[in-house]
Amino acid sequence: MEALCRLPRRRLPDLLKIVEPATEGVLAEVPRAGAAEVDEAVARARRALPAWRALAPGARAKLLRALADTLEDHLEELALLEARNAGKPIGSARGEMAMVVDTIRYYAGAPERLLGDTIPVAGGQAFTVREPLGVVGLIVPWNFPLNISAWKLGPALAAGNTVVLKPAELTPLSALRFAELATEAGIPEGVINVVVGPGRTCGQRLVEHPDVAKIAFTGSTEVGRTIAAAAAATIKRVTLELGGKSANVIFADADLEAAAAAAPWAVFDNAGQDCCARSRVLVEASAFDRFTALFEEHVRAIRVGDPLDPATEMGPLISAGQRDAVASFLDDGDPVVCRGSAPEGPGFWFAPTILAPQTRDARVLRDEVFGPIVAVIPFRDEEDAVALANDTIYGLSGSIWTRDGARALRVARAIETGNISINSNSSVRVTTPFGGFKQSGYGRELGPHALDAYTEVKTIFYSTS
Ligand code: NAD
Repeated sequence: MEALCRLPRRRLPDLLKIVEPATEGVLAEVPRAGAAEVDEAVARARRALPAWRALAPGARAKLLRALADTLEDHLEELALLEARNAGKPIGSARGEMAMVVDTIRYYAGAPERLLGDTIPVAGGQAFTVREPLGVVGLIVPWNFPLNISAWKLGPALAAGNTVVLKPAELTPLSALRFAELATEAGIPEGVINVVVGPGRTCGQRLVEHPDVAKIAFTGSTEVGRTIAAAAAATIKRVTLELGGKSANVIFADADLEAAAAAAPWAVFDNAGQDCCARSRVLVEASAFDRFTALFEEHVRAIRVGDPLDPATEMGPLISAGQRDAVASFLDDGDPVVCRGSAPEGPGFWFAPTILAPQTRDARVLRDEVFGPIVAVIPFRDEEDAVALANDTIYGLSGSIWTRDGARALRVARAIETGNISINSNSSVRVTTPFGGFKQSGYGRELGPHALDAYTEVKTIFYSTS
């Protein structure tokens, strides 16, 4: 692939092998950055900051629109890169790259709309302005590599910050190509910097670096905790988008056919490696058998295979380690309702699986699986459904299926979660805020709210006496 040949090869002797999850072959080798490269990247970002933040709002907006156009021109190339590196079906990869373009284009509207307030005070005029934070560190996971990066890059750049982006070491290729395309689009040198290296060295240095004003992190709750603690030393701003254990709540009066047809993609999208995965399907007891039978039919029909085949609906897991972690949930003895199919041979394949745990404290109902295993469990009534849905440390997403509108709204308000959908499993849009309650994190990405996380409010008082 042309893009792979053009990856930067710098003086570092140590190379990271980037593996293609569908073949286990080496897709590319990229220099492994360490603390010294993070320091260099932060220094570049710091040098670029004064000119970037001083750009007229319209000029910054124009550059972001040019970036969106350049990304759109390379959408197919980026989708192919992401599909191969992350093992996701090409159709999904195209959708994600379209969201990257839309996200940058949406935030291109922001520089000219960063409004402040005028507040009545005695003796003069008081008003607020929004200032950029400075150099912002972006640390992202491997499941939606460029998409999640764009959710942070868009508002960060629009608000006048410069950035150092650290992709996950398993999936750095789309971020590296993004940086090249940004230069082509005219984004000045040093505004976007990418460092590829392990979390415990590169990521940690970014979190500890005194010249980094904020860390925007997406990843596991476990790592999020250590980042919040480490950032406290320099009172860095932190936003955390962490894990989830979301509920798909099916009432007996729902359109069961529609709910069952949609349920596989509420959890098995991206092979279940999705923070929004509704990996707990709660079904009203009177509809449990009927729903489960319908759900099983749809799960058996899922086409798992080569990510580059347009007919593929689910690809492999990201790594052998991830496959082992997911498979461990089969060892707990929970009854298996069904297992779909998966290819044999090279590739980190795992067949989509439904389990029916018999107790409410089963591990599959508590821990994030981050793979294609889902648990179905019955509930008695509305009160029980809400209690069960909230019986988790997480609160990221979720769905409610019912024909009773009043109940849908009551339950939507009662479930402790940042995003919930009624008669739908869609929870992420460019224009609406996304983020977690409880240990799914804090701060909001996307929509107008994301800009709050990349700006400081300054109050200015001008005496008229
Ligand atoms: P992870 O927490 O292991 O790693 C995420 C990123 O943090 C990687 O870039 C990694 O290199 C870096 N990192 C690891 N240790 C670090 C440290 N000590 N200091 C600084 N950086 C460090 O997560 P993962 O396995 O890549 O991704 C899966 C997790 O991400 C799941 O828990 C999933 O739910 C979560 N996730 C959340 C969202 C959301 O929006 N809430 C979205 C996608 C994924």
